Amino acid sequence: MPIKDISIAVLPGDGIGPEVMGSALQVLERVGQRIQRRFVHQVHPAGAQHYVDTGDSLPKSTLAACRAADAILFGAMGLPHVRGKDGTEIIPQLDIRFALDLYAGVRPVRTWPGLPVPLSDPRATKIDLVLIRENTEGLFYARGRGVVEADAVYDTQKISRAGTNRIVDFALNLARERVQKGKPGKVTNVDKANVFASMAFWRQIFEERARRFPDIKTENAYVDAMALNLVLKPWQYDVLVTENMFGDILSDLIASLVGGMGMAPSGDIGDEHGLFQPAHGTAPDIAGQGIANPTAMILSVAMMLDWLSVRQDDAALAIGARLIEDAVQSAFAVHIVRPREFGGKSGTADITRAVLEQL
Ligand code: ATP
Repeated sequence: MPIKDISIAVLPGDGIGPEVMGSALQVLERVGQRIQRRFVHQVHPAGAQHYVDTGDSLPKSTLAACRAADAILFGAMGLPHVRGKDGTEIIPQLDIRFALDLYAGVRPVRTWPGLPVPLSDPRATKIDLVLIRENTEGLFYARGRGVVEADAVYDTQKISRAGTNRIVDFALNLARERVQKGKPGKVTNVDKANVFASMAFWRQIFEERARRFPDIKTENAYVDAMALNLVLKPWQYDVLVTENMFGDILSDLIASLVGGMGMAPSGDIGDEHGLFQPAHGTAPDIAGQGIANPTAMILSVAMMLDWLSVRQDDAALAIGARLIEDAVQSAFAVHIVRPREFGGKSGTADITRAVLEQL
């Protein structure tokens, strides 16, 4: 039976987004040749610069293309000087998350042989954890809904039973899958249940759902203590689950544990759609210089292939994901390249070339 083409909607966006997307598309094409699958990608406009040019940050046609594609690859969007009337940045990725109900923000981080780690404890060379961020509620639900009074502004957090059930189940199922790969199978719930009624409700639901997964170890942590422990002993964690805002903050923190934002891929996943993007933003401070580390974007392609492999029941796609991870690992392990975040001199093109050679 002929294998159908796999359609990918590509949204490069702003800043370093198009630079790292260029790397990702080269890797996708090469891996397609290796596994004999054809990825047909189409580039669509969206972002802060598009807003400046046209007054629209996310054209309807782009959103429709995202809905129609098998998967979405996303660079980064937003520019610090481009803001809406309420003073907030133009960030269409949040609109996409809500429109396509991409409720699970999946942010894995791991260390790579050959690259130094910022923490000196030898156990820090073995960090391998995934943060699951609830993407559609929490404090971000207040975006565009803030109540503005003359001397005070109110942003209200939403935690719903249905929204919490599904994200907690996502984390527990992921921990179960990770056990098959030799990981501990532990979920740490991160909240602030000692202060907020919404968070006490979140914790109650976490504990209810956890009882359905007796094979998975679970524990609770307050977000402030978690910030401390993620720096003191990150090797103790496997899967973390948390609400939107805490997840936003902690995902930058965990990226730093493995060397920086350029190493942290992510997926925004719903029941119908999946969008894959580096965990970093547009990095305006380094944009246009050819020095962005494309690894996070390249590893996001691997995450996309893993997700597509399950959805399309096609083992070859998971093999493609492993080929990409192995190529990244080899490129770093033999010191062919070292990103600037690690004190090296390799730019975007050097790292891309090294990964393609290993592929
Ligand atoms: P956002 O809020 O949109 O996620 P941010 O404010 O967290 O973005 P980033 O754009 O992620 O900011 O940049 C944070 C820092 O990390 C900057 O110093 C930036 O240069 C650096 N950085 C981000 N991505 C990369 C990359 N791919 N390679 C090298 N450095 C990066």
